[in-house]
Amino acid sequence: THFGFQSVSEEEKENKVYEVFENVATKYDLMNDAMSAGVHRLWKDMFLERFSPTPGTKLLDVAGGTGDIAFRFLKYVGTPVGSTFSSSASVAQSSSDDSSSSDSEGTQVENKDSFSEPDINGSHVTVCDINQAMLDVGKAKAKSMGYSSGISWVKGNAEVLPLPDNTFDAYTIAFGIRNCTHVQKVIDEAYRVLKPGGRFMCLEFSEVKNPLLRSVYDSYSFQVIPVMGQVIAGDWKSYQYLVESIRQFPNQETFAAMIKSAGFRFVNYKNLTFGVAAIHSGFKI
Ligand code: SAM
Repeated sequence: THFGFQSVSEEEKENKVYEVFENVATKYDLMNDAMSAGVHRLWKDMFLERFSPTPGTKLLDVAGGTGDIAFRFLKYVGTPVGSTFSSSASVAQSSSDDSSSSDSEGTQVENKDSFSEPDINGSHVTVCDINQAMLDVGKAKAKSMGYSSGISWVKGNAEVLPLPDNTFDAYTIAFGIRNCTHVQKVIDEAYRVLKPGGRFMCLEFSEVKNPLLRSVYDSYSFQVIPVMGQVIAGDWKSYQYLVESIRQFPNQETFAAMIKSAGFRFVNYKNLTFGVAAIHSGFKI
């Protein structure tokens, strides 16, 4: 590929992905809007609709980046904005880095038990991402939106989550799994941290099967997106990588089979915008 991704080692891919998101973090939201003409917002709304979480849900949002899914979740379950009545632990979670600690591998975990802290309506989202720059943008957004409870931030790798077994009611990952080196490991980890009965949900770019639509989509992706990356974020290569990573990701059926092989049941998917993106779902029974 132009970016040489197919020939690089796994470690190099991991470093490259880290660098990409480090580079784009502050422009990430703006670029998403520009590249998709705002459609990513609709997809994320549809993702939440399909998920339909109930108040009391303990969610883990992996590769959560700047918090788009987390904030939609809190809104959906009705967690009040600007609440001042949260527990001291959850205030610390969203307001500062003071509560951070590092383990021997340098994995940063804020308030190790925060994901089990009760919140005002029992709902809680733990945002996990490998990239501190993305989490920092998310934290600043949480602050400006007035969320002082219901959300915590954990720096960690989706392939080896720094979180205990059987902990969460739901696991979401949106536009994140294709950036991971070992996709099956990510799904296996999702299975591990979910409680029995818990739900796995993934929103990811997928395969456009219609040949005509596919060629239009390909031209747009390969010719327009890197140019936009250059103009808006001053970064051609990162956006070229994003396009290539989309093409290399397993299609709807292959990905559904991977979810099943991790042990999930009732696995299904729904295409969005002719398969440009898809929502996959499965349950740990
Ligand atoms: N979920 C957010 C959204 O929908 O806007 C962010 C998606 S962004 C395209 C992908 C995110 O995946 C980045 O924040 C990146 O740091 C994160 N990421 C990449 N590899 C990861 C890994 N192995 N573990 C956890 N997060 C990872």
